[in-house]
Amino acid sequence: MGRALFIVDVQNDFTEGGALGVAGGAAVAEGVTAWLRDHADDYDLIVASRDWHDGHNDNGGHFANDSEPDFVESWPVHCVAGTPGADYHPALDTTRVTHHVHKGQGVPAYSLFEGRTEAGETVHELLDERGIHEVDVVGIATDYCVRASALDALGHGQHVRVLTGLVAGVAPTSSEAALAELAHAGAELVD
Ligand SMILES: [Zn+2]
Repeated sequence: MGRALFIVDVQNDFTEGGALGVAGGAAVAEGVTAWLRDHADDYDLIVASRDWHDGHNDNGGHFANDSEPDFVESWPVHCVAGTPGADYHPALDTTRVTHHVHKGQGVPAYSLFEGRTEAGETVHELLDERGIHEVDVVGIATDYCVRASALDALGHGQHVRVLTGLVAGVAPTSSEAALAELAHAGAELVD
């Protein structure tokens, strides 16, 4: 039984001072690094995703280029591929990451299952190849990309744990709702 860790979107634009900064984002970066120091050997696969949008279009309406963002389906410009905002937060140690996934090129993409590795593989393929049956999920944001990635992992038949000390959300109410929804869908919430 293989285990995987998903590190979702721990990027500069999603942490304090970023285009779409989430309170507690930098602490998630530090916390995930500490977790990896103690637990990296527990995983057969460590997948880190990055939102990786086009800079020359609205990415399918995901960027509110000409209007006010609603912070539900439209957002300020963030994580444009190749810019500092799209980089991993500097406190995140990526040396143990086995696969880097890019998602959102020209389209909205909340789940890391919508992305591909640098070699062009999907996360589905990675999980199947490695015989993964258990997935731990950490990262940003609880109420959007962590939620979507964990739901897709459950849909893939994984036993999913969300490490609730290593996630940060856009808003408290929607983050609580997302965790409740994930627990109801079968995820284990681990403090
Ligand atoms: Zn995005």
